[in-house]
Amino acid sequence: MRGHTVGVSRRVALIGATGSIGRQAIEIVDAHPELELVAAASGSTPIDGLAPLTQVGGDLTELLDRAEPDVVLNAVVGFAGLPVTLWALEHGVDLALANKESLVAAGDLALAARERGGGRLLPVDSEHSAAFQCLDGRAPEQVDSLVLTASGGPFRGRTRDEIADVTADEALAHPTWNMGPKITIDSATLANKGLELIEAHFLFGLPYDRIEVVVHPTSVVHALLRFRDGAALAHLGYPDMRVPISYALTYPARSATPVPALDLASGLTLEFHAPDLETFPLLRLAREAGERGGTYPCAFNAANEVAVAAFLEGRLPFLGIGEAVEETLSAVGGAPARDLADLVQADAEARRLTVRGAAVA
Ligand code: NAD
Ligand code: MG
Repeated sequence: MRGHTVGVSRRVALIGATGSIGRQAIEIVDAHPELELVAAASGSTPIDGLAPLTQVGGDLTELLDRAEPDVVLNAVVGFAGLPVTLWALEHGVDLALANKESLVAAGDLALAARERGGGRLLPVDSEHSAAFQCLDGRAPEQVDSLVLTASGGPFRGRTRDEIADVTADEALAHPTWNMGPKITIDSATLANKGLELIEAHFLFGLPYDRIEVVVHPTSVVHALLRFRDGAALAHLGYPDMRVPISYALTYPARSATPVPALDLASGLTLEFHAPDLETFPLLRLAREAGERGGTYPCAFNAANEVAVAAFLEGRLPFLGIGEAVEETLSAVGGAPARDLADLVQADAEARRLTVRGAAVA
């Protein structure tokens, strides 16, 4: 394995290079001479010439074997990112993880792979990058609780009746973050914060009752850690994914980015309130799935992916997403996955149940 010393070139494999995170990652790599893009992959968009090794679709682990990266940035959307996550963790290669779905679905298997491989898991999700920085290697016992912030999405403050007829275009208009379509819908339903709750549980080893979600409309505070001594550390910054991407790729250095310094005198407001779990049931369902453990988080994620795709294609109303996920979670067995084959089966089963139950086919 190559060294991690600052000044020495770091070989980056970027998987999901054509997406929102992928494009911002290329900007960060281009700005840092010590970061070398050795491989890039996308799901379907051609990317010839972007890196010495490129691949569109297919088995991405072969590309990673050939690329011999120091760090893999997994910016794939959805469960499809799982082989990339497991490859990096098994091989002891640093994993810069944007693809939260893989950690949610495969949490226990992923942590076991990390244990065997010994690599570092560097969160790219902004809240988790923030929490990782506030935590700064301290053990979970020193933590009282973690607070993840949510913008509340475009429908914050509305009632269930008021969002029953929203269209995909309305749901795609996110107030503070500019992201790919799937996570933008997840932000509108709060499923994204549900996925992040489970992601945080696996990343930081905290029980669910010590992870809180609060709505914070301006997305300036990304996460806050309360410690057992009464101190609370928060991470602030303008909502811009180039900051956590840069942090994960150049860790432990804090490299320059084009993001401006925080201006406190320009009318910055830090407002927080409790999420509305009745209007946005997916956050509650994610917490329940996380607490039940086993393959419930995998089923939550699978059902959500199917329902979001159906909503985006106009085959399911907005509130149908939560209903479909709830129905699927009540139908699956949820038994823990002993291996990858078990997990893939649990994912497929949850997808089948969601398609049938919600009539989204
Ligand atoms: P996106 O839809 O913009 O891009 C997804 C990328 O994944 C594309 O490059 C696509 O080609 C690739 N891809 C899809 N299926 C693939 C497959 N089977 N194999 C290989 N590549 C495949 O999505 P995004 O917004 O960039 O989000 C990517 C991930 O990062 C998601 O898990 C999301 O939750 C997470 N994330 C995104 C943001 C953000 O600001 N966009 C913030 C936090 C976390
Ligand atoms: Mg996030």
